[in-house]
Amino acid sequence: MPTDIPHFIDGRRVAGRSGRTGAVFNPATGEQTGSVALASAEEVHEAVAAAKKAFPEWAATTPLRRARILNRFLRILEERADELAAVITAEHGKVLSDAKGEIQRGMEVVEFATAAPHLLKGEVTENVGTRVDSHSVRQPLGVVAGITPFNFPAMVPMWMFPVALACGNCFVLKPSERDPSAALLLAAWLKEAGLPDGVFNVVNGDKEAVDAILFDPDVSAVSFVGSTPIARYIYETAARTGKRCQALGGAKNHMIIMPDADLDQAVDALMGAAYGSAGERCMAVSVAVPVGEKTADALIAKLEPRVRALKIGPGTDPDAEMGPLVTKQHLERVRGYIDAGVAEGAKLVVDGRGFKMQGYENGYFIGGTLFDHVTTDMKIYKEEIFGPVLAVARADSFETAARMINEHEYGNGTAIFTRDGDAAREFAHQIQVGMVGINVPIPVPMAFHSFGGWKASLFGDHHMHGPEGVRFYTRLKTITTRWPTGIRAGADFVMPTMR
Ligand code: NAD
Repeated sequence: MPTDIPHFIDGRRVAGRSGRTGAVFNPATGEQTGSVALASAEEVHEAVAAAKKAFPEWAATTPLRRARILNRFLRILEERADELAAVITAEHGKVLSDAKGEIQRGMEVVEFATAAPHLLKGEVTENVGTRVDSHSVRQPLGVVAGITPFNFPAMVPMWMFPVALACGNCFVLKPSERDPSAALLLAAWLKEAGLPDGVFNVVNGDKEAVDAILFDPDVSAVSFVGSTPIARYIYETAARTGKRCQALGGAKNHMIIMPDADLDQAVDALMGAAYGSAGERCMAVSVAVPVGEKTADALIAKLEPRVRALKIGPGTDPDAEMGPLVTKQHLERVRGYIDAGVAEGAKLVVDGRGFKMQGYENGYFIGGTLFDHVTTDMKIYKEEIFGPVLAVARADSFETAARMINEHEYGNGTAIFTRDGDAAREFAHQIQVGMVGINVPIPVPMAFHSFGGWKASLFGDHHMHGPEGVRFYTRLKTITTRWPTGIRAGADFVMPTMR
């Protein structure tokens, strides 16, 4: 029997009342393990109302006390990371070591947010005019919402809520309906850490819940991570309804391999970056761009046996390097892209379509796939596949390789592998991408920097977590002060200039 997966509103697990549910599967076995409540607009508004009610007291709680709660939450996460990882693997499919990795990256944002008293310090200028001082403070927005994708069910919510809560906001999270259980565990542990009821809520759901968030006048800001068409929709709708919005979208990350690169190092990097988490990462490298035919031939020669030797298995197998895809539909979609690549004339070096996992015949497994001679007009080059499919697109020069990246619709992450400092510097300087790696394949910024892409990979002004996260979840107020001894008689009708 599938387990019922409820909402978490005002400090309690609350069963769904909409009569609509979504099926949650174990991707390794294909079995339905859960039935997640899909919220109606009314249920979303209840969560927002609980957050609104909790806001005045939470906002008035000193940043230090808020930080202490987050500190306790951090300790719980440390102690119970294995439990959370098991929940992630059961619904997402990724291998346990990778699930632990995402928890670690999420915990680092919690660690960052525990510096709340420091992060919220404002600015002061004495004597902006004679005996007049100005200071600025950053105040919370109120109720803020997060809408998150399936591929990091713990980390992506933790890019958002630790910073939002540290800044004094109340939070409504709408996790992916494909793997919703991790969010409920996080909610229970926040409460255990001492978070007052209503400050953090989870509503499960689909488009109906998302639209209810977007049109709720009591929601001040929306953070979104997911695919580009939905990110664009969220951003446009939030703008229309007057909400602050950061909406992170899809990606097609290129890695340039220069002729002078350490090829073994580049191949190791590519294997992890292209096939880790079955390619279901927004920072996955999905296009390798070797510069020059010699580099390309040598790269393919080294990659091919490695891709064939990938260890694929259920996420619970400690030896597996890659688990299944998230759903049957997604498996079909990825297979469809491989068919399209073949039809368009790319050279299929390793074909993962026929892979069957012994003992897990109903699981959503696919083998690692490698294409060579991919060109920029092909669908498999232009679109995000989000599977273990690496396209090798050969370039004749550094300039061609860089131009390919700059002309691509997406601009999330990119990398160059080279021993030449000048090429690396030029690359970092001119490339139109938000996160750049030099001999680093997946340049995910640490929690105290900020995460975000450019172009169709991000709609909005602010990247996530780090200093940008603090700016996103607060608004600036500037106070100018003059005490009575400095006040002159009479009204001033001209534009105030400081004397
Ligand atoms: P998705 O866009 O299908 O779903 C994301 C969220 O939007 C979910 O909560 C979902 O319920 C909701 N949603 C889906 N359809 C909707 C609709 N029509 N209207 C309103 N809301 C809707 O994305 P996904 O498949 O869960 O995740 C994979 C995508 O996320 C990939 O494109 C990947 O690149 C992207 N991603 C981006 C980043 C980043 O930092 N840029 C990070 C992780 C994932």
